[in-house]
Amino acid sequence: MLASAEWAPFVEGFGPPAAGGKWGKLETLWHGTHLTSALRIAEDRMISGGLIYDGKLRDTRTEVIYFSPNTWGNGSRYGSFQFEINWSTLIDGRSLYWVEAIRDYQIPIYRFLVSRRNVSHLPVQAYDPELDTGPLRRMGDEWYWATGSAAEVVIDEAVPVHDISRLRFDKHHDDYCSEWWLNGKCPEKGWSGSWNAHAKLVACLLGRPLKTLNQLLVEHDILAFGVESALSQVWVRLINGRKFGGSITDDETATQLILSALLTFHAGDTDGARRIIDLIDTRERAERVLLEAIRQRFDTPSFNWS
Ligand SMILES: [Zn+2]
Repeated sequence: MLASAEWAPFVEGFGPPAAGGKWGKLETLWHGTHLTSALRIAEDRMISGGLIYDGKLRDTRTEVIYFSPNTWGNGSRYGSFQFEINWSTLIDGRSLYWVEAIRDYQIPIYRFLVSRRNVSHLPVQAYDPELDTGPLRRMGDEWYWATGSAAEVVIDEAVPVHDISRLRFDKHHDDYCSEWWLNGKCPEKGWSGSWNAHAKLVACLLGRPLKTLNQLLVEHDILAFGVESALSQVWVRLINGRKFGGSITDDETATQLILSALLTFHAGDTDGARRIIDLIDTRERAERVLLEAIRQRFDTPSFNWS
C-alpha cells in the first residue's frame, strides 16, 4: 500500500493545518517511563534506545526511543515520569520518515522515524512535511500534528539528558500499562502508585546521591512542583509520626542514617527505613539534616518546605 493511502485516514476532513481544531502545534513531545527506567536514565545521563516491539521495525532489530506529543487525561500507560523534549531539538539535523499506521490498538497510532543515519535498509519512506499530506506538517517555521490519534515519533539514537527540557512527575493510568510482562501488576498504576514512584525516585536521587537530573528538576533554584510534593511524600512516610529518642546525637551520623533510610525506602522497605530514622535522637535533628540533604543534592541552598 502506498504510504499516502496509509496515512490518509489520520487527516481525513482535517483541512489545512492551523493551530486549534484538529491540528495541534508540534512543540513539545514526551518520553514516558516507569521508575526503573527513569533511574537508569539518571545513571546513564541519557535515554537509551530499546528494541521496538510492534510494527514494521520489529524484525529489523532497530533500537529506538519513543516520543509523543499526546497527553492523556486519565494518565499515561508508559509510567509515572515524562521526559520532555522540544520538537526543534528532536528534529535538528535529522530527517523525517513515515513508518506506518498501526491499528491494533483502541486508539490508532501513526508512527514516524527521525534519523540522521542512512536508513535505506529500513522499511520506511522519506517524508517531506511541506509537500506530503500526512499527519505531520510544516508551514514556514511552524509544525503541526494531527490530533485524535496516538502520534509516535521514534528516534534511532540515544538522547542525552542535556537535550531534555524537563522531567514531569505524572500520573500512571489506572488500568492500562505498557509493561505487558508485569501481567497487570504494575505498582505505579493510578495516583497512589504514581506518588509512591515519585517519592522513590527522589529518595534514590537523594540517597545515592545522583545529581544528573537536577537540570530537569530545578528551575531558577526552585524545585519543580512535582519534586517538592514527592519530597513531602518522603517526609510523610519516613519522619511524620515517628517517636525518635534514639542514641544518635550528632548531625554527621544522623545524615548518614537519613541517607540510608532513603535508600531502604527506595528499595521498598518502608518499615525498615522508619526503624533507621528512629535511631536519631530528636525530630528537630532528623528534619534539619533531611532539609540540608535536599538543599545540597538539588543545589537549592534556599529550599524550604512551602
Ligand atoms: Zn505501568
